[in-house]
Amino acid sequence: MPGRECEEALDRLFEYIDDELPDDELRRIGDHLKTCPPCEAEHKIKEKIKNLTSRTGGDAAPEELRQRILASIRSARDDH
Ligand SMILES: [Zn+2]
Repeated sequence: MPGRECEEALDRLFEYIDDELPDDELRRIGDHLKTCPPCEAEHKIKEKIKNLTSRTGGDAAPEELRQRILASIRSARDDH
């Protein structure tokens, strides 16, 4: 069930992926992702977005690509 833990994990996903959090936070969020499939799914998506943005060398993914990713996230959610 989504709760504060999820909100916190989702809030910090980008920092988590970037390794910008203190060790205890990294561990806490890592543990949460392991036990929470929806957050883990979100983590994978954000990681993918980050990989895309770093591959293009800029600080933003091409707008069209980003829209496409967001649309696929939304349609995946609509399946529930
Ligand atoms: Zn969660």
